[in-house]
Amino acid sequence: MRAIQYVRAVDEAGAASSLGGEGAYLAGGTSLLDLMKLEVLDPATLVDINGLPLGTIETRPDGLRIGAMARNTEVAYAPEVVSGYPLLSQALLSGASPQLRNMATVGGNLLQRTRCPYFRDPATPCNKRKPGSGCPALEGESRALAILGVSPSCIASHPSDMCVALAALEAVVLTRGPRGARSIPIGELYREPGDRPDLETTLEHGELITAVHLPASPFAARSRYLKVRDRASYAFALVSVAAALDLQGGVVRAARLALGGVGTKPWRALAAEAALVGKAPGEAAYRAAAEEALRGAAPRKGNAFKVELAKRSIVRALRALTEPA
Ligand code: SF4
Repeated sequence: MRAIQYVRAVDEAGAASSLGGEGAYLAGGTSLLDLMKLEVLDPATLVDINGLPLGTIETRPDGLRIGAMARNTEVAYAPEVVSGYPLLSQALLSGASPQLRNMATVGGNLLQRTRCPYFRDPATPCNKRKPGSGCPALEGESRALAILGVSPSCIASHPSDMCVALAALEAVVLTRGPRGARSIPIGELYREPGDRPDLETTLEHGELITAVHLPASPFAARSRYLKVRDRASYAFALVSVAAALDLQGGVVRAARLALGGVGTKPWRALAAEAALVGKAPGEAAYRAAAEEALRGAAPRKGNAFKVELAKRSIVRALRALTEPA
């Protein structure tokens, strides 16, 4: 590990100008510091943004604005999130231990790196960590990795629960960067790996996430985050489902479905949503939607079980929205 310059930012412009070519923003540090200890990341400068006033949660006429430095615990228990966006609260509470949630921020959660074991081990090749070096996961350990959005260069899954809920809620990520302020729909924030898995987002170097906007949602009454994992708590998802339905007149007026644990990015299942619209809620419609959601799946030997697991999880999550427990 090389010597690190540490800078405490006092405003957004100063944070960006302190970053230099090889710096990183330090928020909660729950992911970044881990990866530095593993010598996966080696920033020359750490720009501490904990002093920036970006931690507020505000109700606005068009929805909810959550500051990028709001801690995951604060967001999960905020009354306006619990009542208006329960999906987000459930996803956050399923995501990590209380200690981690107390430190982790919304901005940091959006930029979490994959848990692919090869990415986290500098002794192995990895196209994401070192472009062109290879992807041992393709023929190796892939149980936790993706089946949707994969490429011959990378099958790493996106690790976040929060982002799956944000995808279903059509969140907009607000940033400030070299070209000024931007509003990025969450569906446009992440890149699929293609032949450049090292490029994970559409953010420019130095672009700072300042907040997340959640549009007013008609789905509060019928939404659910379901997480399937290897052990009961504090594990990353094998499969997760953010599901929401808006029912009118006995049929589905609108649906939202997003998947975690199976995609190279938080995976919005738009075709599955479309398949639900106009249908009467029930097992047949849910299974048809699940088939749509997994239509493009390209599993490896070690994670082929996720195809059927994801389909069953989608059906289960939708069923929970419309049938009494
Ligand atoms: Fe690296 Fe992606 Fe392959 Fe994992 S799946 S070893 S992150 S290139």
